[in-house]
Amino acid sequence: MKYLDYLTDNTLLVVPNDIKEDIILEVTEEKPLVNIKYISLENLRRSFFEYDEKAIYYLMKHYNLKYEVALIYLDNMLYLKKKSYDSEKLNNLLKLKVEVKNLIKTRKINFDNIVVYGYDLSNFDLELLKDKKITMVKDKGSYIHNCVYEFKTINEEVEFVFDKIAELIKQGIGINKIKLMGVTNSYYSILKRMGYFYNIPISIPNDINLYQTTIGKYFIDNLSDTVIDEIKEKFTNQDIINKVIDIYNKYIEYDINDIKDLIIYDLKHTKIKNKELKNSVKLISFDSKVSDDDYVFILGFNYGSIPVIYKDEDFFNDEEKKLLGLFTSQELNKLEKMKIIDKINSIKNLYITYKLQDNKEKYLISNLNEELNLKIIKDYKSSFNHSDLYNQIVLSSSLDKLIKYGVKDENLVYLNNYDLNYRKYDNKYNKIENEDLLKYLNDNLLLSYSSIDNYYKCSFRYYLNNILKVNKFEETYQTVLGSLFHYVLSKAFTDDFDFEKEYQTFLDNQKYQFNNKEIFFIEKLKNELKFIIDTIKKQYQNLNLNQALYEQKIFIDKSTSIKVTFMGIIDKILYKEEDNQTILCIIDYKTGNPILDIDNTKYGLEMQLPIYLYLSKELKFKNIKIAGFYLQKILNNEINKDNNHSYLELKENNLKLQGYTNDDLNILEKFDKTYENSQVIKSLKTTSNGFSHYSKMINDEEIGKLIEIVDEKINFARDNILNGSFDINPKRLDGENIGCLYCPFIDICYRQEKDIVDIGGDDNASVD
Ligand code: SF4
Repeated sequence: MKYLDYLTDNTLLVVPNDIKEDIILEVTEEKPLVNIKYISLENLRRSFFEYDEKAIYYLMKHYNLKYEVALIYLDNMLYLKKKSYDSEKLNNLLKLKVEVKNLIKTRKINFDNIVVYGYDLSNFDLELLKDKKITMVKDKGSYIHNCVYEFKTINEEVEFVFDKIAELIKQGIGINKIKLMGVTNSYYSILKRMGYFYNIPISIPNDINLYQTTIGKYFIDNLSDTVIDEIKEKFTNQDIINKVIDIYNKYIEYDINDIKDLIIYDLKHTKIKNKELKNSVKLISFDSKVSDDDYVFILGFNYGSIPVIYKDEDFFNDEEKKLLGLFTSQELNKLEKMKIIDKINSIKNLYITYKLQDNKEKYLISNLNEELNLKIIKDYKSSFNHSDLYNQIVLSSSLDKLIKYGVKDENLVYLNNYDLNYRKYDNKYNKIENEDLLKYLNDNLLLSYSSIDNYYKCSFRYYLNNILKVNKFEETYQTVLGSLFHYVLSKAFTDDFDFEKEYQTFLDNQKYQFNNKEIFFIEKLKNELKFIIDTIKKQYQNLNLNQALYEQKIFIDKSTSIKVTFMGIIDKILYKEEDNQTILCIIDYKTGNPILDIDNTKYGLEMQLPIYLYLSKELKFKNIKIAGFYLQKILNNEINKDNNHSYLELKENNLKLQGYTNDDLNILEKFDKTYENSQVIKSLKTTSNGFSHYSKMINDEEIGKLIEIVDEKINFARDNILNGSFDINPKRLDGENIGCLYCPFIDICYRQEKDIVDIGGDDNASVD
């Protein structure tokens, strides 16, 4: 009889989760009026011993256990039923079970009829359900299969499977009727690849868990009471966000730092399911139901894989399992063998294949063949009739063998009709499909000054650096030093500033390992930083701006079809609110030798200062008037000797602000008391003819235009990035290839002269 024949009202149907959906469909069709509840055997057992994170937390806290160990203890307590055992290990676990008793729930199983389908019940299970009426049902088939296909490599095995699938589809078999059974994840990448070559869609399960996603990583790295709000603000993938919120809510009553391990475990054990392709070849398990019009391939019919081999290495060993009424490893192996044989005999249209080796190991045929006695068919020859792309790859690989090792194989003859571009290399960037790019970006793009700068220098450089992130960021002594100076300067002009404390706090929080030489220099640089702070304080005395903001993070929403955010951090904003307006100047600290020219903004290059202007329009001030925007060179020891000034004066001079000043005297007077011969801004001076020739002046209209150009440049870069335009196009400005300057990807892009884009040759420095 079939399992359906045993279903009456108020039945509990115990089925594996893998096939639950199929079973529900079948039952709804065949017995729509019968009241059935579905449960897996694992969950049925759990109903008698249901624990949650409180019990895990208890064991972790009281016994200083790791999360995984506490889980193993709890999972196995279920099987202890007597008051004592002839085993110290079981009795110790029993004591723990008594301790957590109050944290455990037990549910009543109130069903008149229990039908178990697709499982073998151990004595333990039978004891658990002893007062119930239980029926165990298994499908037994009577189909006879005669052969199994052997292949030298996994590649040849999968090639055969795809040849057969292509033939079936050509014969009119619906793709959804074709199934791959019991495939392990070692086959996933080759199945994906072959699916692409043969143009046959195949639904491969996603192996990614929540912990591996950007949102999951952000969550765990920024655990705090506000992390969920931050995630909602920054990311758009609602499905992943909801999963993270569920985990967060589970632990809401705990101190968040106490339960970090629990959260990491949950993140690692929450899979991100990809959407199953509607029309595709599906992967199914040995539990899955198969009908007579299905075509099934069992791949990897190898020893150790099919059937899996259980060893005596579980938490309970075989002796203890006997005491508890559980299946021993030997019994499990017998049951697994029978299950696979029954399954094979129940499939009408079946192909069984195995390989002798893959990239890592050598393999044998499954031990099941001792019983099935299938005839081994070797030396399958592909017809090469189904995929031009795959045929060309096979031909290239045969040509490789011929050229490198002098080995001639028969594919050179079969496939000699292809005209390959063999050994010809084209470095041209091939556009990525828009849909794939957006999927890769997770519908979220973050832009900044440096990413836009990369894009305009060379879009392929941006692609490698900012999309593929090929260039791993590594902290160096220089980057740590830069961060140290920025950090201390962001605190230096606030009340209660304590230099030594802040200096040390920063160093204490560094992961970077300093060597002795670096420790020596970092100590020396303390005085340099103190000098910078003192000089800036002196400069403040000459300014009329009485308020300041430090390290201002500004986000600008640039979303189009997906969420796009432009983000920048302005090191310092000095300002004064007066007469219904805000006069402000923007300052960015720079290590090294920055470029100060705004002429190249029209090419999207060197836009750092204009970008600060652009960001400043987002500040929540009334009627902003820009007094100036500047870079301030810190950590730059180059002093040009001059007989009119002392060393100290030259050093102070080096710290003057460098950039553009608003030429409106009404604004300037309210900003720099010394503007006629500025003690704060480099080269700012007046003469009898107005401002000195060396003063860099700008007016309100030009500032407005600069902001407009920056906006256009960001929009242009954003649209091209989202469109997947990443051509190799380094810019050569007035004869100098600035695109490739310091680019780490020269070995990847194979840049040619024809790729270089010449710009410049225009002396007009206006921003029109
Ligand atoms: S080396 Fe030049 S051409 Fe190549 S990626 Fe870098 S910037 Fe582009």
